[in-house]
Amino acid sequence: MFFQKTIRKSIQVEGVGIHSGKLTTLRFKPAPANTGVYFIRADLPNRPFLKVSALNVQAVSYQTTLGGPFFQVATIEHCVSALSALRLDNIYIELDGPEIPICDGSALQFLEALVLAEIIELDEPRKYCYITEPISYNEGEKSAYILPYHGLHLTVTIDFPHPQIGLQKLDLEINEQTFSRDIARARTFGFLKDVEALKAAGLALGGSLDNCIVLDENRIVNPEGLRFPDEFVRHKVLDALGDLVTLEMPLMGHVVLHKAGHDIMNKLIKKIVASPGSYRFVELGADISAETKKFANWTLNT
Ligand SMILES: [Zn+2]
Repeated sequence: MFFQKTIRKSIQVEGVGIHSGKLTTLRFKPAPANTGVYFIRADLPNRPFLKVSALNVQAVSYQTTLGGPFFQVATIEHCVSALSALRLDNIYIELDGPEIPICDGSALQFLEALVLAEIIELDEPRKYCYITEPISYNEGEKSAYILPYHGLHLTVTIDFPHPQIGLQKLDLEINEQTFSRDIARARTFGFLKDVEALKAAGLALGGSLDNCIVLDENRIVNPEGLRFPDEFVRHKVLDALGDLVTLEMPLMGHVVLHKAGHDIMNKLIKKIVASPGSYRFVELGADISAETKKFANWTLNT
């Protein structure tokens, strides 16, 4: 049996929002068992709060924005990605602005802050959302599906027609060690040709070579180059882990994504929530081997 986790003490991270360009302070705070993950706008009257939930996702174009009746929190995915990998079940995330700091465009600063805040177990068993039947969502060539699996495993493929990206695939068992080593440092990326359009739309105002890999027609503009040869697909794994937090429960399954961004992830997660026959809640240690075995070769046949 595994127990739910939170952090022992509060800790803060500061920086600009990539889209708003505004300086924001984010503070992680401990939360009791069975709370989940909440954002709190400490700068607004009555400190309104919003649960990280697929039902609260409002915008999913270049980033994932949560919205309620009174306020929004934009670009949540890199921050909550670290929660997903650390299996942090309960936490309050306080903000004094509308957007999460972009930091260096990866999840590294959030991961480091959470580790410094000391992860502790609570006196309550964790329940997992265990996928018992494959669930899939497709839109043209973009596809996403989840298979029964005893753990959390991601297989992500991207295919960008750019000489520095092309076809990239990553297949990874997700845990704190693999996330820290292989995923947390992977930065977000964008194309120079899109920057003007994004800025005209009021987005990417805080974007710079310090927080984004920028590509022109042929090359990577950042003088320091890449942190991994396949940093792009690693960042997509990071984003997908962040989006998985909107399921509101740790997932046990094998997630397979092909060219699937935040929009497809949000639709897949909503489909899981709407398919109660395709999952059940389990505590770790429950016997789920029959379902896992039954679908062991499913990927090979699709
Ligand atoms: Zn991202």
